[in-house]
Amino acid sequence: MKYCHHCASELVHKIPEGDDKLRHCCDACDSIFYQNPNNVVGTLPYYGDKVLLCKRAIEPRLGKWTLPAGFMENGESSLEGAIRETREEAGATIKVREDSLYTLFNLPKINQVYLFFRAELADLNFQAGVESLEVALFAEDEIPWDELAFPVVHSTLKHYFADRQAQRFPVRMFDVHYSAERKITTTLISHSA
Ligand SMILES: [Zn+2]
Repeated sequence: MKYCHHCASELVHKIPEGDDKLRHCCDACDSIFYQNPNNVVGTLPYYGDKVLLCKRAIEPRLGKWTLPAGFMENGESSLEGAIRETREEAGATIKVREDSLYTLFNLPKINQVYLFFRAELADLNFQAGVESLEVALFAEDEIPWDELAFPVVHSTLKHYFADRQAQRFPVRMFDVHYSAERKITTTLISHSA
């Protein structure tokens, strides 16, 4: 962000009075532009003992497998966004239940919060959208574990197949941290009964 959205003056990076963080500020019109984390919303679509994954047609992680997910839009709920992303990326329709909220990941390093909902596919009519190269169903022993796009996808799938054995799907929240050596740790912070 370089110029003011209101008066087009050049912005300065400073701590405003009464604040304790650096912000983009416009001295010409006294505007402050706050930047806050983005929500990424998605689903874990399942059918029988299989789950649906999308092979990414875009960077980052082009060619890797992921769950359908994307940035929430203004004016929609997290669940509406997840349903929309599932339709856009996988051409799939899902059946949402009242216990569909499943995993939440805080990624302070990249200023994102991920939310995944568990949802059964309404039917087997799915096809790759423009952001996917391929969409397919995988049983647990078919999951391309080494070809998954993101740690949040890996963690959500691991918990899903374990929970499936127990037929209990608690809601879990994790914090994801990156060490100096880029090693990723995912820590369980909270879970429902
Ligand atoms: Zn301004």
